[in-house]
Amino acid sequence: DLFAESEPGLVISRFGQHADIEATDGSVHRCSLRRVINSLVTGDKVIWRRAKAANSTPAGVVEAAADRESVLVRPDFYDGLKPVAANIDLMIIVSAVLPVFSSNIVDRYLIAAEAMHIKPLLLLNKVDLLTAEERAALEQQLQMYTSLGYDFLLLSAKTGEGTAQLNNYLQQGCSIFVGQSGVGKSSLLNAVLPGIDAITKEVSEVSGLGQHTTTTARLYHLPQGGDLIDSPGIREFALWHLEPEQVAAAYPEFQPWLGRCKFRDCKHQNDPGCALQHAVSQGDIHPERFHNYHKILLSMQQDKPNYFSN
Ligand code: GDP
Ligand code: ZN
Repeated sequence: DLFAESEPGLVISRFGQHADIEATDGSVHRCSLRRVINSLVTGDKVIWRRAKAANSTPAGVVEAAADRESVLVRPDFYDGLKPVAANIDLMIIVSAVLPVFSSNIVDRYLIAAEAMHIKPLLLLNKVDLLTAEERAALEQQLQMYTSLGYDFLLLSAKTGEGTAQLNNYLQQGCSIFVGQSGVGKSSLLNAVLPGIDAITKEVSEVSGLGQHTTTTARLYHLPQGGDLIDSPGIREFALWHLEPEQVAAAYPEFQPWLGRCKFRDCKHQNDPGCALQHAVSQGDIHPERFHNYHKILLSMQQDKPNYFSN
């Protein structure tokens, strides 16, 4: 037999029919995959066997993958939903005061996090650009999230403000950073893991996948504690395939009211006897969140093909 006893491992990255597997001692081995393993992604926990001979290629073989605690999926035009990374504990949803803070985009990511059972952390970057008055006004606006129990971290990748708190969150498990282009994800990632962009570039060259959006995701151990999974595709994973039921389900403040409308097929728009509209008028649901909900549902109906474009 060419291979030693089986042992546990962690997928650091996946390249076609191979994967880089980290052993419990921290060493990394490029392994081939048994045919029975059809979907293996970064963050998967596996059982593998290392090659007995030193310097052999492959350096080992992956025999089996464990069940996942969570999985990040992306819509693929041909394959439907494709897993991208597994066992993510925290989705850090990055927004910024510049170009403009958008609660609509934040809500979209929150819906995705909820649908994938990944805990969200909201992060507002570039707060160094705010005057004291602007900052107070924005903090007031963010109460529509903090009052629901969401943590909202104010941060500046430029001055370093808030990075200590960010590290506290990162230390708790495996995180990903998501958000629109330009909000400062790359700057933030480099603040928590200096040099990460250079490594990302290297990985895409090694894997020979020209298109940056198809670059394989990679798992990093942070020196300050905690893990991070990153790839350009994960960072700008802005559009998600969602079903309308998942949208309402992701608004915790809607839950006490759902099912209490006069009509069972209530669209919660101008329907008479709508419990949600009543809750909005009573101040129990924030009007901006209610507006976002309708806008997101409408955009899902209008540009469904766009769910495959990112
Ligand atoms: P990404 O597209 O989300 O990765 O965003 P980048 O990290 O490339 O940042 C976009 C722009 O915002 C760059 O010009 C950064 O220098 C700038 N930027 C990032 N973080 C901050 C910050 O905290 N404050 C300020 N003023 N600018 C920032
Ligand atoms: Zn209703």
